[in-house]
Amino acid sequence: MGQPHILILGPPGAGKGTQSGNIAEEYGIEHVTTGDALRGNKDMDISDMDTEYDTPRAYMEAGDLVPDAVVNAIVEEALSAADGFVLDGYPRNLEQAEELSGMTDIDVVLSLEVSREELVDRLSGRRVCDGCGANFHVEFDQPAEEGICDGCGGELEQREDDRPEAVENRLDVFDENTTPVIEQYQDHEGFVAIDGEQPPAEVWGAIDSAVRERANVSE
Ligand code: AMP
Repeated sequence: MGQPHILILGPPGAGKGTQSGNIAEEYGIEHVTTGDALRGNKDMDISDMDTEYDTPRAYMEAGDLVPDAVVNAIVEEALSAADGFVLDGYPRNLEQAEELSGMTDIDVVLSLEVSREELVDRLSGRRVCDGCGANFHVEFDQPAEEGICDGCGGELEQREDDRPEAVENRLDVFDENTTPVIEQYQDHEGFVAIDGEQPPAEVWGAIDSAVRERANVSE
C-alpha cells in the first residue's frame, strides 16, 4: 500500500484544520483543504459553471456551500497530484461523497465530534492571522500581545464567516448536508469517531493511534 488516504470529517470549529496539519506533518502527506483553497480564490470567476453567483465569495461569507462543480474540480486536481493525503472540508454533502468515491479510495475516516454549544463558542471567538493563517481564540488561546500573531507578527482578524449569523448558518448547513455524509461513512471499515472536545494534544493522540491501526504506515 502507498501513502495513507485519510478523510477528516466534522463540523466547522471541530479542529479539522489543526489536526489535519498534524497528520500531514507526521505522515509526510498532503493536506488538501477546500476551505483554504476557496479562501485563496474567493474572487475567481465561476460564472461559466452556471452558478447563482459569479464568484465563491458570496456563498462563503454567508456560510453557504460553494456549488459542487467548483469544489469537485478543486479536489480532483489536488488529489491527482498527491500520493498520500488528508482531505479536510470535503465531502460536505452526499453528491460530493459520491463524486469522491469515483476519484479515489479512502483508508481512514476520522469523524471529529463536538457539541453545537462548544462550536459556537469556539467559532465566534476565533481569530486568524492574516499573515500565516495561525488560529487563536479571544478566550481559550490568547496571543501574547492582543491582536498580534505569536508566530509571524501578523495581524489577527475575525473571519467574515465567524460572525454570529454566519456561524449559525454554517452549523445548520452542516446538520442538514454533512451529517448524512458522516452517517454513510459509519459503515466504512476505516471509520473512527474521535471526541473533539478533549484538549488538542489528546485529540491528536487519539487520531495518531487510530491512523496507525487502520492505515499501513511505517513506524
Ligand atoms: P471551512 O474553512 O472548511 O469551514 O470552509 C469555509 C467555507 O468554504 C464554507 O463555509 C463553504 O462556503 C466553503 N467550502 C469549503 N469546503 C466546501 C465544500 N466541500 N463544499 C462547498 N463549499 C465548501
